[in-house]
Amino acid sequence: MKERITKHLQKLIDRGSVAIKEQFKKKRRRQKNLHLEPDPLGEETLYSPVKGLVHKFGNRVLFKVSYRCAAHCQFCTRYRQIGTPEGDLSFDETQACLSYIREHTEIDDVVLSGGDPLFTARKTLSILDELLKIDTVKIIRIGTRFPIHSPDSFKSKLVKELMRVIKLTARKKVVFVSLHINHPDELTKNVLRAIRVIEKTGAILVSQTVFLKGINNDTETLEKLFNALYHNKIRPYYIYRCDYAEGIDQYICSFRQERRIMTELRKRLSGLAYPMYIIDIPNGRGKIPPPLDFWNNISRRVTDFDGTIIKI
Ligand SMILES: *Cc1c(COP(=O)(O)O)cnc(C)c1O
Ligand code: SF4
Repeated sequence: MKERITKHLQKLIDRGSVAIKEQFKKKRRRQKNLHLEPDPLGEETLYSPVKGLVHKFGNRVLFKVSYRCAAHCQFCTRYRQIGTPEGDLSFDETQACLSYIREHTEIDDVVLSGGDPLFTARKTLSILDELLKIDTVKIIRIGTRFPIHSPDSFKSKLVKELMRVIKLTARKKVVFVSLHINHPDELTKNVLRAIRVIEKTGAILVSQTVFLKGINNDTETLEKLFNALYHNKIRPYYIYRCDYAEGIDQYICSFRQERRIMTELRKRLSGLAYPMYIIDIPNGRGKIPPPLDFWNNISRRVTDFDGTIIKI
């Protein structure tokens, strides 16, 4: 993956944000001992019925609109593809994705991903126009990091047009916009302004975060992040363990530490500010929540918020 950064992010780095610098300008160094793969989630092989779609879980499908993003996050799961034309869908390929969704009437939930669907606004516009007409599709989710990468783009004509189409879509379907956010430094005033523009479409705002070593793997940073999201009408949805993908190993945190942090946060945060902690299982099917330190499965004992051990 080539390095790519926006003016907005560069400005935050110049003002001293280490968290932003480490996400976009990290010097690469390899760790050993981990079982790493180019496509650990089987997105291109096992579960892709047609180019552009990943159909892993019965009622929902991932629609990869492109592999293009405004900036390149150095820990991206799709590290190998981002920024390449490999994921660009021709007219016929796009139609094939839409036909698959139309024919598989069990699909009621379509996740637009990529790449960044808001960055490739023109393509996303045309896909939304078509999805709108498929009655079996009830939910459309748009996963994006565009407001964080390039908040000023939300003043452009093209993005305004896309917002208009999202608003139309949100009248007929339930639309979620899922914002990928990893650190409180990302929530600047102009980013929040861009997020408000999305909110005005009637889409429901949720967030996704990735545990990143040296960036957000401490309780205070994540507490601040999830509270900032909650206070700004964004419901924290998932926090992922970093995927075991080739090229991004230096970002993977200690599993034990992640569990300890999530256990502590469960005590500190309102339930609605607390995301589900998930591992997207390598070589498997499932986004599975690891147990927190409250539980001892063998003795069937649980440790409560105060540290009292109770048998259940
Ligand atoms: C993450 C993902 C989804 C959505 O999963 P939820 O747990 O419903 O958010 C759907 N399809 C694929 C292939 C995914 O990776
Ligand atoms: S915005 Fe998402 S898809 Fe694009 S580089 Fe970042 S993590 Fe990858």
